[in-house]
Amino acid sequence: MIIVVGSFKGGVSKTTTAIHVAAYLQQKAPTVLVDGDLNQSALNWASRGKPPFKVIHKDESSAIADFEHTIIDTPARPDDEDLKQLAAVSDLLIIPTTPDAFALDAMLQTVGVLSELEEGSYKILLTIVPPYPSKEGVKARAALTGAGLPVFKTEIGRKAAFQKSAFFGVPVYEVDDPRAGTAWADLKHWEPRSWDDG
Ligand code: ADP
Repeated sequence: MIIVVGSFKGGVSKTTTAIHVAAYLQQKAPTVLVDGDLNQSALNWASRGKPPFKVIHKDESSAIADFEHTIIDTPARPDDEDLKQLAAVSDLLIIPTTPDAFALDAMLQTVGVLSELEEGSYKILLTIVPPYPSKEGVKARAALTGAGLPVFKTEIGRKAAFQKSAFFGVPVYEVDDPRAGTAWADLKHWEPRSWDDG
């Protein structure tokens, strides 16, 4: 399976999402994370710790033949053509966005090109969603679905454990934090195919 993670803005948990989907799939079958991001966040993350899966630079992508699953972290702000290509080469294009106004504006400006993509080829993941009683997540979801965009039912909450995960270069379940377990369990085991189950 090839999963691409792309976003229209930086700082929306793109690399964090790619890392955790890869960590989950590695538990099922050999998985490689291809770092195509310009600032090489995934490779930097891997160099800080001990990732449970292989992380390679995009120029080494011939190595992906050895793996069952490939997760590709891409540069933020793809142009229209890049986006179409990413959706075409992957089984699923995940587009993370935070629920704040800037990130939503960036998403909503892309409605035109997204509507040209094949149905089911991409889906938006709400990330770093502030906890109740904030209504930011609910409002963002309404704005996106109102614009006709597909949004995963599942969303990633804002949790300090993810920042520690980045700092130590380990998946969130290995972080020494009281909420690390919930942060991992939040996403129904980070299996994108289950993110729409009730
Ligand atoms: P991007 O790849 O979109 O630039 P990153 O995955 O690098 O985003 O995340 C940006 C910052 O937000 C990092 O400091 C990361 O640790 C933090 N972060 C990511 N996801 C969460 C979350 N669910 N809760 C809290 N902080 C998060």
